[in-house]
Amino acid sequence: MIQLSNDCFKHSKKRISLEKAVSILEKRIKCIKKTEKIKLDQALGRILSKNIISKRSVPPFDNSAVDGYAFKHSDLNKNKETNLKITARITAGQNFNKKIKKGEIARIFTGAEVPKGANTVIMQEDCNVNNDEVVLKAGIFKGANIRKKGEDIKYGKKIISRGSKLRAQDIGLIASIGLKKIDVFEKLAVGIFTTGNELYEPGKKINKSGIYDSNRYCLKNILKTIYCSVIDYGIIKDNELLIKKNLKQIAKECDLILTTGGMSVGDEDYVKKVVEKNGSLNFWNIAIKPGRPVALGNIFKKPFIGLPGNPVSVMITFIKIVLPTINKLSGHFLPIQNKFLVRTDFSFRKKKGRKEFLRVKIKTNANGEIKVTNYHNTGSGVFSSIVETDGLIELPENLTYLKKGTKIKFLSFSEVLI
Ligand code: AMP
Ligand code: MG
Repeated sequence: MIQLSNDCFKHSKKRISLEKAVSILEKRIKCIKKTEKIKLDQALGRILSKNIISKRSVPPFDNSAVDGYAFKHSDLNKNKETNLKITARITAGQNFNKKIKKGEIARIFTGAEVPKGANTVIMQEDCNVNNDEVVLKAGIFKGANIRKKGEDIKYGKKIISRGSKLRAQDIGLIASIGLKKIDVFEKLAVGIFTTGNELYEPGKKINKSGIYDSNRYCLKNILKTIYCSVIDYGIIKDNELLIKKNLKQIAKECDLILTTGGMSVGDEDYVKKVVEKNGSLNFWNIAIKPGRPVALGNIFKKPFIGLPGNPVSVMITFIKIVLPTINKLSGHFLPIQNKFLVRTDFSFRKKKGRKEFLRVKIKTNANGEIKVTNYHNTGSGVFSSIVETDGLIELPENLTYLKKGTKIKFLSFSEVLI
């Protein structure tokens, strides 16, 4: 397997902007996966490793867009009705090799090939039929109701680019050019675990000072949503030996190790100690809130990312830092996180010098105007705040006061977690 260089996450503790952090990561990280050929039916969420160039035109022939009658436009009288004789019947999928002659018209159905000699189709609702003749009014456009050969895809066109993550519509497009197998990058295998003696598996009897592990459940499902293959190593106790043993195993089995919690400087933060002793660890002090430093490094020759313990920080650092990292490692070109301008229905004070993300809910009024409301509890331990909101607004570094009614960038959770 292709490996990252040991120092690709090297960074001083100097505070940097989010944009700077992402651009450094983008430069240093490369795709580590080999490619494989897969069947189209297994392609959902996979990342293309080769451009797809069409060796066909779609549609492959001029065909009728409606149920109606096909004829030659020059047979029409200029200013009065025209009667043409029905001499053929052409259904979708039928190989019809005869030519429509002067004065003739063919019954034709949607998707059927337009016969030689014809260049226009009239919809059955727009004409009258008398026995074996069709009566056509004057003023019909030449070429009406015909889907031209190649109007969807021209022969030789690049239809999907290397690095795209395949969605249902992409797969449909690939099927339309008749490809059965495609080249993709192998899936990125992400190993995750959480640490903390206070953490319990949902369903287990819990100590009075314990909490249930929510981060791991959220993270592993985010990873599934973005089509990584996820290996869950559970909750690991705050114990140096155990953590080391597990990390060794995960490094053997996965491409990337992702953990939450245990990364502070407290005596009980063993993940930090183990990674530092057996690899390297760099705390990136990124000027965002919520966020805390994100630990990027490697252990036993595998990339490692240690996220903060608080669930809101986990979500935000995941979207902003981990997602671009995973995309790059797995060969997906860095997709733009599309943002839309929305108006706030609240005011907000913030510190200068860091980007701040607020969890907001979209509200549409009777006029269709979109406003966003701020979640009432901005604590970074409040999981409900992520569930009950639709996405994040981004308050720029230099802003100190957000006035009610200001237009601001909004990023929908559903935009990125696909
Ligand atoms: P830590 O970074 O380990 O000091 O944790 C910071 C805070 O996040 C503490 O209140 C932890 O109890 C909480 N926390 C850590 N890991 C998890 C988890 N997996 N699920 C829910 N809360 C967590
Ligand atoms: Mg802890």
